[in-house]
Parts: sequence; structure tokens; C-alpha cells
Amino acid sequence: MVVVRDELYVAGRWRRPHGQDELLVHGAANGAVIGIIPDADAVDVDDAVEAAKQAFPAWSTTPLHERLELIRHLEEALTARIDELARTITTEVGTPVRVSRLLQAEAPCRSLAHYRALLPELSLEEKIGSSVVVREPLGVVACITAWNYPLQQLLGKIGAALATGCTTVVKPSEVAPLSAFTVAEAVDEAGFPAGVFNLVTGTAESVGEPLVVHPDVDMVHVTGSTRAGRRIGALAAGTIKRLALELGGKSANVILDDADLAQAVKVGVANCFTNSGQTCTAWTRMLVPHGRLAEVEELVKARVAGYRLGDPLDPATNMGPLVSQRQQEAVRGFIRGALDEGARLVAGGPEQPEETAAGYFVKPTVFSDVTPGMTIAQEEVFGPVLAIMPFDDDDDAIRIANSTIYGLAGGVWSQDTERAGRVARRIRAGQIDINGSFFNAQAPFGGFKQSGIGRELGIHGLLEFYELKSLQYA
Ligand code: NAD
Repeated sequence: MVVVRDELYVAGRWRRPHGQDELLVHGAANGAVIGIIPDADAVDVDDAVEAAKQAFPAWSTTPLHERLELIRHLEEALTARIDELARTITTEVGTPVRVSRLLQAEAPCRSLAHYRALLPELSLEEKIGSSVVVREPLGVVACITAWNYPLQQLLGKIGAALATGCTTVVKPSEVAPLSAFTVAEAVDEAGFPAGVFNLVTGTAESVGEPLVVHPDVDMVHVTGSTRAGRRIGALAAGTIKRLALELGGKSANVILDDADLAQAVKVGVANCFTNSGQTCTAWTRMLVPHGRLAEVEELVKARVAGYRLGDPLDPATNMGPLVSQRQQEAVRGFIRGALDEGARLVAGGPEQPEETAAGYFVKPTVFSDVTPGMTIAQEEVFGPVLAIMPFDDDDDAIRIANSTIYGLAGGVWSQDTERAGRVARRIRAGQIDINGSFFNAQAPFGGFKQSGIGRELGIHGLLEFYELKSLQYA
């Protein structure tokens, strides 16, 4: 079935776009067209930004409890559509259905509940000497998202923006845009005032850049590649707007010599290969003491052998395809490059997996003896590829962990929690799990170095959406 969406959601209603072009959305499992969406243009962007600007004065002064009540309605409207959302994202992105309900639908909706719980605790005024310092909502926020966790990124952004009193224009990734239309329907059903949420679909060129340069957009909140982040940063400089950039990663999973190897490898492999490796925080480098390399390789091979590739809608599948042919070709290129650079292949390879005649599949692939200078150790592959890198001691592990332009996430494993904590504090990354702890959606999330600017989620994520004003009373 092909989902045809030929309208944008602007100023509280569905309307035909000014831009006359269309974009095709392809299913990850076999490349078939599963959707058609508008490729809007700069006129549509102007209309959406104007609607958000007009809505801002009233929305930003609406009592907090009323805003949060509407967010609760949104949560309910989305919860009623959980199965539809999970299935849509599985079809677009290829996330196996056995995990997509939780990962791609339920967890994202929960972030709205977190914002509702946290915001009333946030003090928006403080006294500093003769000043009263107040936080005021920033204004119009352009929310631009990537395709790998489309709903998580969208709700993470609009949940915080709407709760804090900002108004939004949303541009989802053109690769996985369909769940954003469901969100717009849910916003409409929830009864938000016209203009506080607007949806404009298109490409980076047709919609993304016009939003970034728009003088009435006060903040651009983007999840995407570091390459896009650089370009967006340069464009946003023209109007000095606030930027929040959630970008790429090359995260290190540091397994110290006293770690529980079996557990560290089990969690590390699962982390790297979730969503076929298309996760910004994926621990794509496994750092291992020289003396335990052979043991780790055997454990990794055994875990990788447990992956069953296939149709993501089949509940037996635990590794789906990549999102697109472009992504598949790029990942295979990285695998060939690693072989050329002398990395030792432990599992997988660049060929189409035997069990999947069609579809954008890549074998779960593992290299060992990877050194920090190799491309596979430096660049974000965004596919199911793990690089095992040996180290000498804790200092060496930290040096290797910090040897990329990225700093998004990571893991540290040791029986000695204090030692693991000391190592974690020396890794320049935004979020580090010690001994395989769980993702905490209330803790700040974001990157050091070229992994981004700013933090999303929790109180710290909410604070990004305010301006500070100092009032001096004589
Ligand atoms: P991408 O950079 O190609 O696109 C992301 C979004 O930005 C899309 O909506 C795209 O249309 C838009 N865009 C790109 N260039 C733009 C420009 N010049 N102006 C305005 N908009 C522009 O990324 P992708 O391929 O969709 O997603 C994969 C990337 O996202 C990976 O690098 C991954 O690490 C990163 N990511 C980061 C996080 C995080 O939270 N740090 C989370 C998920 C994904």
C-alpha cells in the first residue's frame, strides 16, 4: 500500500503546498515505494514560520498547566496510534518489528511524559544581587530531524519546545517522514492552538535551508550528520540564531582488563548493531586489552552468529535492512576500505548476505586489529560494522577513545566501578554507560566536540529553549 500525503499542516489546518513537487518514500526491506509526500518550497516555509510567529505571543504566555495538559492530550492521541507508528517506522527504516514498538514508538512517547513531569519543577526566576533573572521562551523553533529514530527525535524536540512555550516548524527527514504526518494528526486532535505546530516536508535544499536562514526563526534544533551540522551552522550564522546540533558519533566501548568479558561483549555487540548500526550513539569501537583480544574475538563471533537477517516485519528477524540503497552502498564502501587498509576481518564482509536476495542488507561485520589511524576507526559508518581495537593500559585506552573528532557516547567496563568511573570522566563524550547501564531519558543527551552543540532531554534539554533576561529594579 502506498500512503499518499499531499498536504502540509500549517496554521492549524491541512492545506495544499505551494511547492508542486513530490518525494517518494521507499520501504527499507525491498525498496518499493511506500509513500508520496510533498516537496514543499520556500513560500511554504514562509507561511509556516509566519503562523508560528503569530502564535508565539499567546502560546508563550499560556499558563504552564494548560500547555502541559495539551501535551498530555497529544501523548494520548499518539498512544492510541502506537501500533501504526511502529509499523510505519519499521517499513520506512527497517527496524525489526520485535523491537520497534518499544524503541521507535513507546519510548519516544514517554519523553513527552518526562517533560510534563520535569517542567513544573523548573524555576524560571532567580535573584542575583540587584537583578531578577528570568527565563523566557525563545520563540519560533525549526525542528529538523534525521531518519534513524524519526519519532524519538521529533517528540524530543517538539515536546520540549511546546512545553516551554515556543512554537515550532517541523521538517522531518525526507527518507522517513511518514510518522511526522501521524504526529501532526495527533496535534490536531489534541486541540493545540493554530500555528504552534507546523509541518513542512521536503529536502535539505527545498525546506531545510530556507528554514535555517529565515530571519523569523529564533532557533534551529537539528538531529543529523556532522556534515549537515557544519553547513547549518554556517548558514545560521547569517541571522545569529540559537543552534542545537545533535550530530554524528564514533563511540568507544572501553573494556578494561578486569571486566566481565562475556557481559561486556554481549551488551557491546547489541549496542553496536541495534537498528542495523544506524544509531548515533552506537559503540562502534570496542577497545580491548591486548592480552584479551583473542578471547573477545571469539565471544564477538558467537554473538554475531546469533543475528537473523530478514524482513523487518517478521517477528523472528533481529537484524533488518539498512534504510536505503545509498546507505547500503556507503557502508559496503567502508567495509572494502577497511580491508584495503589492512584491518583483519573477523565476521561478515561486503557481499549481499546469502539469506537476503533483495533489500538493503549488509552482513553484520567485525574487524579486529583496527588502529586509530584507519578510516574505520575515525569515520561514522552508520551500518552494522564493529571495529575491535587493542590497547596497552588505561591511559592508552583513553587516548584511543578520545582520538576522533566525535564525542557523543561510550561505555566503560570494569569490576571496579570507581576505576571505570575515573576512566569515564576522562573520555570526552556526552553520555557514558558504566557496566552496561540503561539509557536515562531524563539525563542530558548530546555531544562533545563535533558530535554537537547543546543538550536534549531532561531539565538540561528544556533549558535550551529559553532566553535569559536580567531585570534590574532601582
Ligand atoms: P542528514 O544530516 O543527512 O539529515 C538530517 C536532517 O537534516 C534531514 O532532515 C535533512 O534533510 C536535514 N538537512 C541536511 N542538510 C541540511 C541543510 N544544509 N540545511 C537544512 N537541513 C538540512 O542525516 P541523516 O542521514 O538523516 O541521519 C543520520 C545522521 O544523523 C548520522 O550522522 C547520525 O549520527 C546523526 N544522528 C545524530 C543523533 C544525535 O542525537 N546526536 C541522533 C540520530 C542521528
